[in-house]
Amino acid sequence: MEKTEKKQYKLIFIDMDGTLYDMEDMVIDGYNSALDYLVNYQGFSSEEAGLLLKENHIYPYVSEDACSATAFFMSRGYDVKEWDQKRSENFNCQPIDINKAMKLQSLKKLSAGAPLVLLTNNTLKNVRRVLKHLGIPEDVFTEIFCNEKDNKTPSKKPLMEQLMTKYEAKPEETLSIGDRYNVDGRPLVELGGDALIIRKPHYIEEFLNGEKTDIHYVFYDGENMKV
Ligand SMILES: [Mg+2]
Repeated sequence: MEKTEKKQYKLIFIDMDGTLYDMEDMVIDGYNSALDYLVNYQGFSSEEAGLLLKENHIYPYVSEDACSATAFFMSRGYDVKEWDQKRSENFNCQPIDINKAMKLQSLKKLSAGAPLVLLTNNTLKNVRRVLKHLGIPEDVFTEIFCNEKDNKTPSKKPLMEQLMTKYEAKPEETLSIGDRYNVDGRPLVELGGDALIIRKPHYIEEFLNGEKTDIHYVFYDGENMKV
């Protein structure tokens, strides 16, 4: 692929789950937590819970149209503290293969160019577990925003807007990196920003090598860039 001059961003958002590590390693655990929560805390039968998750694009496998279970539960008005507690109890980093995860060096390169803000719907407890497991120090990120203290709505959009004001970055100077367009990309694209959607953590290398510019809503599967 031909190299071109890379766009300079003033602010970069990065997602954690499925972006810093391969979602394949954890997708079943996450799905089972959501299923257990609906059955044990919200009184659904297993069958009803499975149907509800499916209808809302929450799957036991990696999918392009997958949505966030946390955002879904928040949109239904469930007690998110209860859900956070439940998934923190269940969360186990051991299936995460660090060899498939994003390299610390890549994160350092990203943060050298612009403030790098970790924006996740996961809990702070789980963020700390994952970063420790991956050997990523928290201070590689300019700030960390996680669900229980920062995200009061199902969408990352209001927080993205606040942070763009804080860092004096226009939408077109802002990039969101994540593994799911609906969760990580769409909120910023709707505000006028760019999104880099990567299916595997190591695909960030092509971006860092300047092999793709002017991103705006990209799905990258390791072979094809779909704009
Ligand atoms: Mg994700």
